[in-house]
Amino acid sequence: MRRTLIAGNWKMNGSFSANRALLTDIIAGLPDGNSIETLVCAPAPYLAQCAEVLGKTPVKWGAQDVSAHIKGAFTGEVSATMLADCQCKYVIVGHSERRAYHAESNELVAQKVVQALSEKLTPVVCVGETLEQREGGATNAIVGAQLQVVLDVLSAEQVSEIVLAYEPVWAIGTGKTATPQMAQDVHAFLRGQLSVKSAEAANTVRILYGGSMKPENAKELLAMADIDGGLIGGAALKAADFLAIISAC
Ligand code: PEP
Repeated sequence: MRRTLIAGNWKMNGSFSANRALLTDIIAGLPDGNSIETLVCAPAPYLAQCAEVLGKTPVKWGAQDVSAHIKGAFTGEVSATMLADCQCKYVIVGHSERRAYHAESNELVAQKVVQALSEKLTPVVCVGETLEQREGGATNAIVGAQLQVVLDVLSAEQVSEIVLAYEPVWAIGTGKTATPQMAQDVHAFLRGQLSVKSAEAANTVRILYGGSMKPENAKELLAMADIDGGLIGGAALKAADFLAIISAC
């Protein structure tokens, strides 16, 4: 049984005062007996604030990126050790915005996954195709190649430690969502690819859907057999919407 994970990706949004208000509202509004694993991925400068505000709550916090290097002369980078120091449990790796705006290759993403795991952080590994690639019938080839480079650097045991996120690039921040069946088809494909490496990982690894998930469409998406949660951008910035998605699980 895979535990549903609802993860917010705040992207480059927030301030000390806005974060405190958002987190306080999320904590106060969590449903009684909530069994959904809840996570917020904040910008690096706010991770210590997350630790302070969320430390005694069931809500976990994580980062949006991690360096592929251990330490040293890498100005501006944040290491996995530093994220662990901020008591992060998760880190998003290979988000399409990093792939597009920071030219992150599949190989670099794989190195980041290795670094995250070395500090016992769970990497949320993002894969997804552009609209052009989908229309060209290349979706499975693209997401399959993105995942395979990561699988190639991990042992079967390590694969069981990751979370995957299928995020069609054309659905991120656009208001366009993949239909539940479109998303399910890709999730099933990814799970099949995991099974070649490890039957155990195929059963246990959670595959999140991300791309304009909101209260209105979350229930249908999360009802699909291979959709184990959501990675949520815009709707994670409003407590009411984030909580409504958690309630839809
Ligand atoms: C994201 O950034 O990971 C994302 C899914 O964004 P949005 O929900 O805004 O499409």
